[in-house]
Amino acid sequence: MDRTGDCWTWVGPVRDDGYGGSRVNGKKFIAHRLAYELFVGPIPQGKQLDHLCHHKLCVNPEHLRPVSGRVNQQNRKGANRAGSSGVRGVHWHSGARKWRAHVGHQRRTYFGELRANKELAEADAVELRLLLHGEASTADLCRLMQIRLEDHERKNNK
Ligand SMILES: [Zn+2]
Repeated sequence: MDRTGDCWTWVGPVRDDGYGGSRVNGKKFIAHRLAYELFVGPIPQGKQLDHLCHHKLCVNPEHLRPVSGRVNQQNRKGANRAGSSGVRGVHWHSGARKWRAHVGHQRRTYFGELRANKELAEADAVELRLLLHGEASTADLCRLMQIRLEDHERKNNK
């Protein structure tokens, strides 16, 4: 699951469909589509962006691949069949029936809180990795996204 490297987890607003995104000045945006357009280029017409990492809030352009709608559905089914959370560092606690972040560091495993919501457990995992390994750069990314987002809007409003 982890072979494509670290996810860049969107920490901004989340839409009803589970993807990151919101409105800026009345204009809608979807975080991972915007990231792809900013860092890679225009999304081919009629294509959806498939998350290779199966993580809806990931905006790492290296994890995004334009596909037809049907392929995207198949990939999602495959992720469910594997039985894992599909998210790095997040495990299902069957006793509590909740999700929890597990992050290993120097032969110890550090646990996040028990969470009813998988996305919250995932945020814990990202935070723990950041604290323990100095890994990931969610804050940096968001700062970058904010700046780019403003540039993007400014350009469109001309
Ligand atoms: Zn990812």
